[in-house]
Amino acid sequence: MAEPVQITFLGGLGDIGRNCAAIEMGGELLLLDCGQLFADHTMPGAETVLPDFSYLEGKGDRIVGCITTHGHEDHIGALSHALRKYEFPIFGSPFTMGMVRSRLDEAGVLGRTHLIPVADHERLAIGSFECEFLPVTHSVPSGLISVINTSQGVIVHSSDFKLDHTPVDGRLTDMDRLKALSADPGIRLLLCDSTNADVPGATASESEIGPVLEQVFADNVGRRVITASFSSHVHRVQQVADAAVGAGRKVATLGMSMKRNVQLARELGLLTIPEASFIDLDNAGDLAPGDVCVISTGSQAESRSALAMAAKGESRWLQIDEHDTVVMSSTPVPGNEAQVWEMVDNLVRQGAKVLHTGHLGLHTSGHGKQEELKELHATVKPEWFVPVHGEFHHMIAHADLAEGMGLSADNIVVAVDGDQVVLDDNGLTLREKVVPGTYTFVQGTITEDDHAVFGDRLILGEQGVVVATATVDVKARKLVGPVSVVSRGWLGGEFVGTITDEATERVTEAVEEMLAGTDQLHAEAIERKMRRSVGQFVSSRTGRRPMIMPVATLR
Ligand SMILES: [Zn+2]
Ligand SMILES: [Zn+2]
Repeated sequence: MAEPVQITFLGGLGDIGRNCAAIEMGGELLLLDCGQLFADHTMPGAETVLPDFSYLEGKGDRIVGCITTHGHEDHIGALSHALRKYEFPIFGSPFTMGMVRSRLDEAGVLGRTHLIPVADHERLAIGSFECEFLPVTHSVPSGLISVINTSQGVIVHSSDFKLDHTPVDGRLTDMDRLKALSADPGIRLLLCDSTNADVPGATASESEIGPVLEQVFADNVGRRVITASFSSHVHRVQQVADAAVGAGRKVATLGMSMKRNVQLARELGLLTIPEASFIDLDNAGDLAPGDVCVISTGSQAESRSALAMAAKGESRWLQIDEHDTVVMSSTPVPGNEAQVWEMVDNLVRQGAKVLHTGHLGLHTSGHGKQEELKELHATVKPEWFVPVHGEFHHMIAHADLAEGMGLSADNIVVAVDGDQVVLDDNGLTLREKVVPGTYTFVQGTITEDDHAVFGDRLILGEQGVVVATATVDVKARKLVGPVSVVSRGWLGGEFVGTITDEATERVTEAVEEMLAGTDQLHAEAIERKMRRSVGQFVSSRTGRRPMIMPVATLR
């Protein structure tokens, strides 16, 4: 019986985000991606959500490394947090390593790892895992399919991918090698991106965006053009730059991450902008608007981004006016729609013309749709399949698709965060909830699992808080000074004075009633009484449900 292989999913199965899996064989543990999830409205204040690292507890010295499949935050964004606790080398393409390097440097944990760049098609051993890395097309350069040779055969992880047959950099997904591996020795298990598994058809090639951008420049002669896209989407930046330079414009970048990624990509030869056409935004003012193209971040209207600030007239780098055409070369990530449209409105208020994907083919997804997934399944022909990287409905759609491709339903395992699959001589079995898989969130310097704080924050955020305080002389059974009621976020200016006075009277009556009685006085009982009287008053007088905090001090 060959050594079994366990794969534990610490995140990414049930959400788009915090992708991380732990692959174990013979006491060694290999991490596959280590990403973060952006907190949504149910977790106000949380900065980021991490994979469930509780699985790694006590296993730190067994971690042989982490493969980073590509440079998106949902694949690399939690590395700095994992490295605070554990030390391990990180493997990935040179571009991915460049992105990881700056993130880890910022977090001050670069000294706790070695970054090991791997080339396309390279084979290398990470501990006892014999790995091979194949090029794959996606919306960030230099993504890698991981081929992991284990005691239980070959495991293939697709990475995030689309099958772009005309990629901007000409770097094609290595389907031939997958086909060869499928024929010999055969692929035991496929882990595959599910993001667009419920979308029919195929994703448009990235190079289809170029002609649309050229048309934008042709239609906007004499106007400054500002494009917004993800800074990691180097091929989009390349196409914007090509169209701009082709139209005789100078190109400037805006936004910290855009500057950083453009510099990294140019250093690695992944982005070509002629030196003579590349200018600093500070010098763009000397040129006529029609001679300039600004390549910016902020496509998701992130509140601190240069473009969102400029839209509100608050940027010191960029002032928007009626000579500007803003090109939104992206679609809002689910959850960001409202803020993106608010920014678009603000840009229009400043006088700009705004073009977005609603008008034109200015964006294409980085994730393959059903036809591309079918092509991958037909090439890999795995014995076992686990859909990964998706919300639950994406993974179910992907399981159905695999079944439609001829794979037996018995050989498809749908797992979620916290689950483990075990591959042994008899096949693949699912062990549910080996770890809870719950959201660990980071805010400031604290990492927490307990989500009760968000219940409080949601009440505070939507209803405000009313604080009632009373000081009682226990011996004399008398109030020391007046009862005080203060509030935040409960009532607006017109009502807050009078209604707070009424509330104060009510609490004073309640406390005095208690003092007039014979019950033994202790803080808890007084606070209970105060809470009840404030609660009843607030509810009957305002119909609102703020948080109520009674505070009784005894003398
Ligand atoms: Zn991803
Ligand atoms: Zn990605």
